[in-house]
Amino acid sequence: MCAADCALKKGVSDLQKNAEQGKLHYAEERGAAEIVKKIIYKLLLMAERILWAPWRGEFVSGARKEGCIFCEKPSEEGSEALIFERREKVFGMLNKFPYNSGHMMIAPYRHVTSLEDLQKEEVEDLFRLLKDSIAVLKMEMHPEGFNIGFNIGKAAGAGFEHIHMHVVPRWTGDTNFMPVLSSTKVMPEHLSRTLERIKAGFRRLG
Ligand SMILES: [Zn+2]
Repeated sequence: MCAADCALKKGVSDLQKNAEQGKLHYAEERGAAEIVKKIIYKLLLMAERILWAPWRGEFVSGARKEGCIFCEKPSEEGSEALIFERREKVFGMLNKFPYNSGHMMIAPYRHVTSLEDLQKEEVEDLFRLLKDSIAVLKMEMHPEGFNIGFNIGKAAGAGFEHIHMHVVPRWTGDTNFMPVLSSTKVMPEHLSRTLERIKAGFRRLG
């Protein structure tokens, strides 16, 4: 009898063990699934940030206001407008959501949405201001390179249709995983201080 009883007890005990191991297994699988889910989620976030030009990040997340800043800002006085230089046809302002310190935008006063609609005088003024802006940035901030360009159309990441040229000073090693993996970008200098330096640079340029 004992043999059968013992066998039964052993069988029950084995079943319990198997059940427990099964539970453990299930928990492990669930844990692994959670980890995979988290990795996929992070990859999706990364992909999203890479697809959107980094400097548009905060516009996308809702900081954008109604209207066109390139039409509105030139009529504003004071450093709040972040305008560092006013020329006859175009003006230069610092980007409030910079990709790097000294990130500039140069735009015509006219609300032009296509590059081909720019007048000859606007093109000339725009490139003259670009040339001087580069000179000032080199003098004041000593960048090692520049990214210069236009984002035209929403599909290309433009926050505003009004044509504007981005001038982004670059330093070796300024792009690391931080702005890609999170929206955090360490800004070594406050905007108002950068504005003062740029304005002083233009005064020295004469
Ligand atoms: Zn405009």
